[in-house]
Amino acid sequence: MILETFPVGPLACNCTLLGDDAAGEAIVVDPGDEVDRIHRRLNEHGLRLKQILITHAHIDHVGGALKLKRLTGAPIFLNQEDLPLLEMMAVQAAWLGVDTPETAKPDEPLTEGMTVGLARYPAQVIHTPGHTQGSVCLHFAPMKMVIAGDTLFAGSIGRTDLPGGNYGQIIESIHSRLLALPDETRVLPGHGPETTLARERQSNPFLQSR
Ligand SMILES: [Zn+2]
Repeated sequence: MILETFPVGPLACNCTLLGDDAAGEAIVVDPGDEVDRIHRRLNEHGLRLKQILITHAHIDHVGGALKLKRLTGAPIFLNQEDLPLLEMMAVQAAWLGVDTPETAKPDEPLTEGMTVGLARYPAQVIHTPGHTQGSVCLHFAPMKMVIAGDTLFAGSIGRTDLPGGNYGQIIESIHSRLLALPDETRVLPGHGPETTLARERQSNPFLQSR
């Protein structure tokens, strides 16, 4: 197994590359920027990209998806409820003062309960609205790992003050969906260091009030 998570772009979005070296296949989650570097890693490992999975349509997570698709031919997966945000890319770029990346409609929806990932490393899609309406987490149950996007961070949660954000909803999503997973589950957040569900359940200040 090849598992690499590295920050890309000015907002340091965690991009994750998961590969099955025996099968020669990989997925990439949240190629927000630095696509040449992501593409080079795939080539260095000799991996063919099967899926580009986007946890939500904020520019720092989705900005490089179309470029990566053009380089590899892999389809882009995104939850339909984030299409309005995808269409606001120029507005999002203006928030950051960066150039507007070219985007395209996703090739496939990323909907609650569907299975994505690789044959050896499958993931179930968990719809966790709140940071955005189309935010999803990817649960790799056999690996005891969840890629959480900007829903849950080590010691914090995703902001809810941008369009589509809803504080009550993100708290509900975390309690009812993420904290329902096994305590030992490793969490790879969309920004910052990794954590575990046990640690967040115990010490995350946003999750202590009920
Ligand atoms: Zn975000």
